[in-house]
Amino acid sequence: MYKRHRPPKCSKCNKPASDCRWGEHADDYCLDCRGILQKERTDRYRLRGLCRCGKAPQAEKKVCDRCLSTAKRRNRKLKIEAMQAYGGKCLCPGGCDVSDVDFLTIDHIDGDGADQRKEKPWMVGQGIYLYLKRNNYPNGYRPLCWNCNVSRYQFGRCPHERTSLDSTVSPMQDGSKEAPSRGGHSEMPAM
Ligand SMILES: [Zn+2]
Ligand SMILES: [Zn+2]
Ligand SMILES: [Zn+2]
Ligand SMILES: [Zn+2]
Repeated sequence: MYKRHRPPKCSKCNKPASDCRWGEHADDYCLDCRGILQKERTDRYRLRGLCRCGKAPQAEKKVCDRCLSTAKRRNRKLKIEAMQAYGGKCLCPGGCDVSDVDFLTIDHIDGDGADQRKEKPWMVGQGIYLYLKRNNYPNGYRPLCWNCNVSRYQFGRCPHERTSLDSTVSPMQDGSKEAPSRGGHSEMPAM
């Protein structure tokens, strides 16, 4: 059987194979041209409203199921790495031991989260974990569990830090089952 070998030249840039970078497999295009072609293809898919892989995206999303779950897996790994780098549990100053990664969020210590998100919109959501990794997990961030983080957003501090004097609870009024409005603090922390 004829086994296919690398062609003598790239079919796109026409440079001899010896002058180009090639992938592991026999291919008609050099690596550089392959990258360009891939980008052109994803751009075409995007223009047609498709996922970058060419499949129909999920309703109201830009990516398909499969690409979404791949991205989710990658993001979860990034999140776990970040939490481990910062101590692996909720570092609420009032004392909290939540260490389940699904309950943990990243808090920007002393920083105004809203301000930072304005400057760096990609800090919203998963972008922050990639940012932290690329910057070798800089100081100034800590894991907070969802409860502690949301409490700080809503009340300025966590109930863990409350003194016994102001920890009295007033019962919810009847019929007020709707979530209370969060006022100016509508931004949720990255999960
Ligand atoms: Zn080429
Ligand atoms: Zn896809
Ligand atoms: Zn906590
Ligand atoms: Zn707390």
